[in-house]
Amino acid sequence: MTQIKYRFAPSPTGKIHIGNVRTAIITWIAAKSMNGEFMLRIDDTDLERSKDEFTDAIKTDLTWLGLNWDDYAHQRDRTARYDELIQKLKDDGRLYACYETSEQLDLKRKALLNAGKPPMYDRGALDLTADDIAKLEAEGKKPHWRFKLNHAPIVWNDLVRGEIKFDGSLMSDPVLIREDGSPLYHLCSVIDDMDFGITHVTRGEDHVSNTAAHIQMFEALGATPPQMAHLPLISDIDGGKLSKRLGSLSVEDLRENDGIEPMAIISLLARLGTSDPIEAYTNVQPLIDTFDFTKFGRGTPKMDVREIERLNARIVRDMDYTDVKDRPELSNIDENFWNNIRANLNKVSDINDWHHVTQDTIEPCVADEDKEYIATALSTLPDGDITPDTWKSWTGVLKEQSGRKGKQLFMPLRQALTGMDHGPEMDKMIALLGRDRTVRRLERAAA
Ligand code: GLU
Repeated sequence: MTQIKYRFAPSPTGKIHIGNVRTAIITWIAAKSMNGEFMLRIDDTDLERSKDEFTDAIKTDLTWLGLNWDDYAHQRDRTARYDELIQKLKDDGRLYACYETSEQLDLKRKALLNAGKPPMYDRGALDLTADDIAKLEAEGKKPHWRFKLNHAPIVWNDLVRGEIKFDGSLMSDPVLIREDGSPLYHLCSVIDDMDFGITHVTRGEDHVSNTAAHIQMFEALGATPPQMAHLPLISDIDGGKLSKRLGSLSVEDLRENDGIEPMAIISLLARLGTSDPIEAYTNVQPLIDTFDFTKFGRGTPKMDVREIERLNARIVRDMDYTDVKDRPELSNIDENFWNNIRANLNKVSDINDWHHVTQDTIEPCVADEDKEYIATALSTLPDGDITPDTWKSWTGVLKEQSGRKGKQLFMPLRQALTGMDHGPEMDKMIALLGRDRTVRRLERAAA
């Protein structure tokens, strides 16, 4: 049986943002759901814009997300192989030299558009004689090379979009080699997919027309094209194009500035645009088990970035102490503290704010008219160690003595003991504060 193999092929020209990490997540989950392999291929043929620091950042992000890879390659290491197959395509007459400048091509395009025709390349270069070419070369002109498409129908069964049809005779021959001799993405991608045994390609629907040309290129190289899955691109919640913030939102930002957990990102992006519900998962297995390309809709999924925060809070509140105890920022937090406070966290590092509230000096924020009440509270605090049970008996007595109930009974105590109007349940808070701090804070608030 053929080994199933998917690949994620980012260009290292920037950080991974929401749009391309979605492709990575879906590709990885699709691979796992078919017991397949996942390859990370760095598309760094554009030597000017590709940077090693971005490759490193991509690897850091994927590793943090848990998207491990079984195979890895850089396109820049494969030039000898590309050259070999370029020669084959030239020998087979599937690559031809073109000498038009970009200005000349622009003029041709405009003329066609003005005449109400599709702006296809007219294959003018195929009419050049050997003499014409010799003359152009003598003038120092360097050619770019186009792939000669077969003027035939191109049909494939897309795993997301169903049957897709293109007409080769209505497509421009794509440029595969630049004037400086370097091959373009299309050619390198097809050669790599062939050489690395890629059986499935998952990418955004902005690549659909590229795929039509790629299919003929696979065939020209004697290979069977992989199965294709083109995902609808996501848009912002208001339905517009991905907004600047969302479009440029990087995985690194989410991790380092927003305190987002990997599974919050994966829970959202694996399911966005599918018929399955978006839920907070703490591990990826249920997403693998339920994955199916047929569940993806054709419409543009709308993404609300606040959904990541909501999922994150749910995931963090479900996390055990063992999941977090080794994080350097949690060195002050013990298991008891984590277990008592986690239900109030939106992100893991919030725990330090609550640690600060319980351990450091706080400003009580009690209204003047409640000060006497706080003094009564101090005098009725039960003797002995404070446990989570203390709260109930204490406030029971206080209720009798003060005649207060509900918010009037509880809020001033919260304000006196935490300096805030909201937070974890007070039975837990006073147990974490301990007797000495509780007494001191009440004394201060009553003064
Ligand atoms: N490097 C290409 C991109 O980032 C890869 C597209 C593909 O998956 O073939 O758009």
